Amino acid sequence: MVRRMTPLLLLALASPLLAQTPPPLRAGLATTIINPPTPAWLVGFAARSHPATTISLDLKAKALYLEQSPSRRALILTADLLGFTERITNTLAQRALSKHGLARHQLFFFASHTHSGPAVLDRLTLTVADSPAFHAEAEAYTASLIDKLDRLITQALAKPKPVTLSSGWSSAPFAFNRRTEQLAAIRPGESLPAPVDHRVPVLRLSRPNGQPLATLFGYACHSTVLTGDTYEINGDYPGYAQQAIEEALPGSTAFFVLLAAGDQRATPRGTLLLAQQHGRTLARAVLDASLSPLPPTLTTAIENIRLPFASHTREAYLAEANSSDVFAARRGKAMLAAIDDRRLPLNTPYPIQALRLGTLTLLALPGEVVVDYALTLRDKYGPNLITAAYASHLPGYIPSLRLQREGGYEAGDAMMYFLQPGWFTDEVEPLVLSAIQRLLARLP
Ligand SMILES: [Zn+2]
Repeated sequence: MVRRMTPLLLLALASPLLAQTPPPLRAGLATTIINPPTPAWLVGFAARSHPATTISLDLKAKALYLEQSPSRRALILTADLLGFTERITNTLAQRALSKHGLARHQLFFFASHTHSGPAVLDRLTLTVADSPAFHAEAEAYTASLIDKLDRLITQALAKPKPVTLSSGWSSAPFAFNRRTEQLAAIRPGESLPAPVDHRVPVLRLSRPNGQPLATLFGYACHSTVLTGDTYEINGDYPGYAQQAIEEALPGSTAFFVLLAAGDQRATPRGTLLLAQQHGRTLARAVLDASLSPLPPTLTTAIENIRLPFASHTREAYLAEANSSDVFAARRGKAMLAAIDDRRLPLNTPYPIQALRLGTLTLLALPGEVVVDYALTLRDKYGPNLITAAYASHLPGYIPSLRLQREGGYEAGDAMMYFLQPGWFTDEVEPLVLSAIQRLLARLP
């Protein structure tokens, strides 16, 4: 039996529901080209011997702004760079706070880690070039990049429009564990694990009429399809993937976040054609993903920790400083100078961030995080967590305890290329995992 209700009673019944309905989410976005002036030294491969003079795929930076209320806002900045640096993120954060009232926990920086992009200061200058002219060029590029990204943020915030959210997962097969070959040399005869993570998370923002406005997607594979003998400015496979998605969904923008790819790279690799092919494979996976609606709620949080370096002796740096390896000698000299000035770093800042949209959480970890973290976190927190890496600045590799036990490049040997003191202590994995637990516990 249906009884007629008075309008007053109807209102009383509806009001708790109305109170629970979140305000609509609004989004704004902007894109800019960030190619350096040519000729430009490309960073990422130690073996490159001269600057690049051509651009085969524009490097881009993109900003995606999300807003639900004056206090619930987030700005995602992606860029075709080897990495962001503390100088860049700190300066942008200061300006975003003073100009727009955006706090650091609301700013997310993701680098695609292309190895066919320019040097940025401080410390991401991985090239044999070391002349005053090279450093002056890197200084000029970094300063102009900061100004450009600052304008990009302002542009993205200008006119946010209502959006709906949906998300899903897909997969792509071309990443493999690159330590397989390395371990055969340093641990001959041993059968060691070689995990991969082929999952492709997809987040879609759509206009109220259903038209796609933006697609954010990720993959755990180094942006090194183009190798050290490539002398062309290029966004590598993520650049081609974004281009293919934008062509398939006209009027929308694609955003790439690199996942826990520290020990992952593409196979096969080495040519422009393969970078395009892997890009198209990834784009196809993104476009084929089956998406489900997400509740339009937004929260952000940050957990600031520091990762400790193992102790090192002056003698070890002295030996490095006299090495014939230009990168070892550079690190050795830098650390000797730091010891003399009593400023040898004992640890490095490590801001861990999370953006929760409905039931989906995007975790933003700085550094070249190895795939173990993504797999451990999936097992612990389930499939609604996206473990993105190369976020904020790039302090170096973030090894798991398993990798530290195995040894090799990602375990700590590569830290000299980042001008860091050396290996982290064995505390890194437990410190990162417990900080993530605290961070996620704080999110509603
Ligand atoms: Zn790398």
